[in-house]
Amino acid sequence: MLSARGIVKRFSGFSLEVPSLSVLPGSCLTVIGPSGAGKTTLLKLLAGLEQPDQGSIVRGGGAVYLSQQPLLLERNVLQNAVFGLVLQKAPKRDALDRVLPLLERVGLGEKLWQPAHKLSGGEQVRLSFVRALSLRPKILLLDEPTASLDPGNVAGLEAFLREANQQGTTLVIVTHNFFQARRLGKRSLFMLGGRLVEEGPTETLFTSPQDARTKAYLSGEMVY
Ligand code: ADP
Ligand code: MG
Repeated sequence: MLSARGIVKRFSGFSLEVPSLSVLPGSCLTVIGPSGAGKTTLLKLLAGLEQPDQGSIVRGGGAVYLSQQPLLLERNVLQNAVFGLVLQKAPKRDALDRVLPLLERVGLGEKLWQPAHKLSGGEQVRLSFVRALSLRPKILLLDEPTASLDPGNVAGLEAFLREANQQGTTLVIVTHNFFQARRLGKRSLFMLGGRLVEEGPTETLFTSPQDARTKAYLSGEMVY
């Protein structure tokens, strides 16, 4: 279970309020909403990277947050890929056994010794994705994970996410891609101005939204 109750988070000129939000174990919640709605702040709170001013969050297992901009070390691809497992003090052999097939699968198998900073933007995203998945987290929070990927890599990454989800990883995915939100989400959430406007089964939210603001956003009327 991943749940938030009575959350308030204030910045100057912005506040996020989450009276109640629950994501069932093994479920997938997709989060949509315009820039500045508070999506990243919500993910960071759920991940424990930001603390709420009020309220509480319950996590039924370790959470990994994958940020919008890949955060890579000034090291080679392989060193970056194993870094999470190294921090967890996994034996080197086990770390390699886990990471090498993942790197192969995202097309980085031939680039193990290249400096991570010389990779293309899309390759950097795939590398940070490998590092996150290698930890086999109970909860994976992804912030616009495919924004800089070409269609083939979007499909590849979505397949990965679906598998992780089937193996029990709880997913929360922020995306501006409505199609992706519908493909991956069991439930979906529309945020606006730091508020949860509407949350429900994905197909219901996209085909018969209840709130006029959700309707407007989905039809492209609400542009910020
Ligand atoms: P989104 O991801 O939906 O685009 P964010 O959660 O990044 O939205 O930001 C929501 C609002 O909170 C924005 O107005 C942003 O400027 C503000 N904000 C986010 N983080 C901070 C921070 N660390 N300090 C001050 N303001 C912040
Ligand atoms: Mg954001």
